[in-house]
Amino acid sequence: MHHPSHPRPSALVPAGAPRYDIIIVGLGPAGATLARLLSPRLKVLAIDKKSGGAEGGFRKPCGGLLAPDAQKVLARFDLALPARVLVSPQIFAVKTIDADARRTRCYQRFYLNLDRHRFDQWLISLIPSRVEVRKDACLKSLVKTGAGFDVTWHQDGADFTASATHVVGADGASSAVRRALYGGRRGIRHYTAIQQWFHDEHAGPFYSCIFDSDTTDCYAWGLSKDRHFIFGGAFPPKHCRERFERLKERMKAFGFCFGAPLRTEACMVLRPSGLFDCRTGREGGFLLGEAAGFISPSSLEGISYAMGSALTLSKILNGNNRSPNRTYFLRTLPVRARLFLKNLKVPFMYFKPLRRLVMAVGVKSIRMADAPETR
Ligand SMILES: Cc1cc2nc3c(=O)[nH]c(=O)nc-3n(C[C@H](O)[C@H](O)[C@H](O)COP(=O)(O)OP(=O)(O)OC[C@H]3O[C@@H](n4cnc5c(N)ncnc54)[C@H](O)[C@@H]3O)c2cc1C
Repeated sequence: MHHPSHPRPSALVPAGAPRYDIIIVGLGPAGATLARLLSPRLKVLAIDKKSGGAEGGFRKPCGGLLAPDAQKVLARFDLALPARVLVSPQIFAVKTIDADARRTRCYQRFYLNLDRHRFDQWLISLIPSRVEVRKDACLKSLVKTGAGFDVTWHQDGADFTASATHVVGADGASSAVRRALYGGRRGIRHYTAIQQWFHDEHAGPFYSCIFDSDTTDCYAWGLSKDRHFIFGGAFPPKHCRERFERLKERMKAFGFCFGAPLRTEACMVLRPSGLFDCRTGREGGFLLGEAAGFISPSSLEGISYAMGSALTLSKILNGNNRSPNRTYFLRTLPVRARLFLKNLKVPFMYFKPLRRLVMAVGVKSIRMADAPETR
């Protein structure tokens, strides 16, 4: 893609190509929320490589847990979650496994267990019809011009081009918009998330969070969802598949059951570590949600940040702000500070001796009731 600091005239765009105020790339929680909140005065196009149907097409690999912070953002929007987005069962505790110390503790949690694909589709369904939504549309190129951006996407076997004053990259961890705006420099720590789906063969449903320094310095998870069991983890990219299989083997000793995988999914996941890891965009281009690096480095929770950053940007783009990039950068400072502070929590979760101590003491853990005798 063309670097935005060397603008080209808009000569590449065919005559008569449509012009928008804003083009949003990506309709995950970030892009769909922004598309819903933008003023009717603005002419908006939103493209996403996901297909329109409930099944098929691109699906975001995700644990599908809606954390209290994300629930709070939905509450701010006065939105209530339709039951069809929830899965069975809802789980009230996380079983935390320190595989290094071979210790397990349970902690109370207030997550909602969701079907992530249905959640995304529900957010898209809330976008008003005045926004032009193109599904199955994959960004092909983004070029900075004197008057904004030329955006080309591939859809139904053909290429389409439009121009816009602003472009918003809400296209997730491996954001092509971020690469285009910053000349290919990712500049942020990243992992490969691998997740497999199985028929759930465990005696009862559960949610588990696994720390195993042999395979990753991040974490892994196991989760029951609609009679399926999802097992996934975030691994350093080098030898990630081998690390994943090794962890699966290790988890059998903790009672995990894996039959033949029904589905394997993988994607990049970002893990910001410094105050300046996150990028908010430049020169009329903006980054939202995980494309900006807004994701918790301790828990990898990202839905609340995606929707929250969309709310912040919508207020700026809806007003007549003279320096929207600068304002967005300043208004997201608290988020960046919060993410940075979350890094202070990281040693207690990821540094072996500290975690061992925390789990041995059992701070905030739940004392489990004994199971009733069966005879
Ligand atoms: C395995 C895994 C498990 C996770 N579990 C949780 C969890 O349980 N709870 C939680 O809160 N967070 C979780 N996260 C983090 C969370 O999924 C992300 O932070 C969140 O989805 C970010 O939202 P977003 O809208 O910024 O980006 P995304 O949800 O990634 O959405 C990006 C959108 O852009 C589209 N797109 C991408 N590239 C293009 C392109 N070139 N052209 C057109 N469209 C494009 C995609 O189709 C997608 O719809 C998890 C992440 C991973 C990887």
